[in-house]
Amino acid sequence: MNCTEFLAKLTDFFDGTIDPSIMEEVKTHLCSCHHCEVVVDTTRHTIDFYRKNEQYDLPSPVADRLRGAIMDRCRAIGVNKDGLTINSKSVTPSKAK
Ligand SMILES: [Zn+2]
Repeated sequence: MNCTEFLAKLTDFFDGTIDPSIMEEVKTHLCSCHHCEVVVDTTRHTIDFYRKNEQYDLPSPVADRLRGAIMDRCRAIGVNKDGLTINSKSVTPSKAK
């Protein structure tokens, strides 16, 4: 089993629906492949995180900056009605009034 084959089975692996005959190959691959081990570890943490449904409060300076950036971007898009492409060149908040 290589990385591509393993990643194709990743969902089954986490759902527990993986074929037991493949499971041995999966375990063997995980023992020898650091990359896939990290993928499994990260995915597991992500799943745990959402299961616990924890909310993470952004520190207020970060939240303010994020809100400001979103509002700037929204205003910029409103100004450039001819092209709604979001890229740094089309964002000109100074024109917004
Ligand atoms: Zn791998």
